[in-house]
Amino acid sequence: MVPNFTISEKTQHFLGLEEQYGAHNYHPLPVVLTRGEGVFLWDVDGKRYYDFLSGYSAVNQGHCHPKILAALIEQAQQLTLTSRAFYSDVLGEYSAYITRYFGFDKVLPVNTGVEAVETALKLCRRWGYVVKGIPENKAKIIVCANNFHGRTLNVVSFSTDPVAKKDFGPYMPGYEVIPFNNLAALENALQDPNVAGFMVEPIQGEAGVVVPDEGYLSKARQYCIDARVLFIADEIQTGLARTGKLLACDHENVRPDILILGKALSGGMLPVSAVLADDEIMLTIKPGEHGSTYGGNPLACKVAMASLEVLRNEQMAENAVKMGALLRKGLEDIGSPHISIVRGKGLLNAIVIRHAHEDAAWELCLALKENGLLAKPTHGDKIRFAPPLVINAAQIEECVAIIKKSLTTLD
Ligand code: PLP
Repeated sequence: MVPNFTISEKTQHFLGLEEQYGAHNYHPLPVVLTRGEGVFLWDVDGKRYYDFLSGYSAVNQGHCHPKILAALIEQAQQLTLTSRAFYSDVLGEYSAYITRYFGFDKVLPVNTGVEAVETALKLCRRWGYVVKGIPENKAKIIVCANNFHGRTLNVVSFSTDPVAKKDFGPYMPGYEVIPFNNLAALENALQDPNVAGFMVEPIQGEAGVVVPDEGYLSKARQYCIDARVLFIADEIQTGLARTGKLLACDHENVRPDILILGKALSGGMLPVSAVLADDEIMLTIKPGEHGSTYGGNPLACKVAMASLEVLRNEQMAENAVKMGALLRKGLEDIGSPHISIVRGKGLLNAIVIRHAHEDAAWELCLALKENGLLAKPTHGDKIRFAPPLVINAAQIEECVAIIKKSLTTLD
């Protein structure tokens, strides 16, 4: 197995500070980063790494993208927050920009991803009562097993991951969990007339980049139309060019009723998320019924517009298609006995590790780190490979070579 790597005194200092003074709700790799540019990150000892996580796909545009940074700095010097007690001269412009960009009537801006998920769920329930006519307190929302939609009490209530859930009860009622990628289960669950919505990740990211069968999303969407149920796409991780299209739903020409975006909406600059929907849904929420102090702040709005502009102008979806294909082929060509599966779409990919040692994926990530590439295991035996979308072919080749070399440490 992997030899013990030495950790510098400087690195140890920062690890110690977090260990002593920070809550222990994460288990990071022992690397302390201080700078980022494009596909690269540097640690406090000056060592350079390829970033193969991209802040869980928040940094699709590459670290510190100069155009997004310029928008951030310019707006930060002008006005950063008004709250929604007043208007700003940026929110209206942003609302027009993002709704045209994605083709919806309205946007509701919030901050973190899970806030956008909560917003979508509230909108769905509200629509269920006031438009569909579901009896009071009977609305039900269908979700999928092995989902990841965030960490609030409501959202972990319908998680199937015991690590996310245990000892956080009592749980919020009103959800039904069905298997992912199972149309018969969806059809069956939709028989209940009190179902208001079906929320799904078009590709399950945290579960280990689980890509559903072709046709699943488009059929699920049609079933929802037939049952008069809202189709809610959580594209927080899969959206914004990551899978080779603007939205992962675009692979099947599916237009959700409610679209949830986050992460790369700000290119990693600050928490920005959004919920998009048409008037029939969005206007069911009236003043005072939902909101957030920072939601729609001028700084976030300018950064989001720059982030979306960069994705389009620099053809990042097109690059994700090409580089993703190259990466998957490179990984398959390694032919390592320690890789049982290579899967993904665009630049959202994962390998599944086959090894007798249960910490093998973690050990491999340590070896990758030593060799200059940062990735993190998800759910034990899977490792996500999701570099910034600005990566080029020569860099992909170099990364495949790093992965190949690192895999030999599992021999
Ligand atoms: N939904 C999906 C699909 C995600 O991948 C994530 C985060 O990884 C979230 C929601 C939660 O986003 P945040 O961590 O910004 O709250």
